[in-house]
Amino acid sequence: MVRLNEIRAGEVAVAAPVADDAGLVYIGRIHTPWTDRLACPRQGRLDGPSCRIELFEPWVAALDGLAAFARIEVLYWLDASRRDLVRQSPANDGTTRGTFALRSPVRPNPIGTSIATLVAIEGNILTVRGLDCLDGTPLLDLKPDRTLFTPIAPPQPGDFETES
Ligand code: SAM
Repeated sequence: MVRLNEIRAGEVAVAAPVADDAGLVYIGRIHTPWTDRLACPRQGRLDGPSCRIELFEPWVAALDGLAAFARIEVLYWLDASRRDLVRQSPANDGTTRGTFALRSPVRPNPIGTSIATLVAIEGNILTVRGLDCLDGTPLLDLKPDRTLFTPIAPPQPGDFETES
């Protein structure tokens, strides 16, 4: 069941500190087919509908090289979420779990992340498949899918450390 902002049976809210959002900068806006949280996918799928990511200046130059990756990680700010629940009831049936055991949009810092198929980059517009957010959701970051990415910088000692 999709939550708007209600508290459900068994859930626990706390007095969350006033957020200053750690100085995050919205670097773009995501355009999706969904205008209602009740209609969004729970999780995006790689063959889902095309979505457009509009990147704002001065960040467009930072796209150089990204087109080489078939999949990218998209991080976004689930801006309509409440942020004060420590226990949640996803099924709204009175059973609850801790927020950090869920991928619910309701969390102290409502960061969403999806792996998306990169369809095209044209100027400041990326076309992707695999998102699950509302139309207009603020964009936080873009990265190559980690499973496709080999670090370019030379290795560091920590790269070779295992549990001793
Ligand atoms: N894939 C991301 C993750 O795992 O971090 C997000 C998953 S979250 C379960 C996706 C849900 O968040 C959607 O089904 C919708 O109900 C809700 N949602 C989407 N856009 C939102 C927004 N801008 N603000 C708050 N909730 C949003």
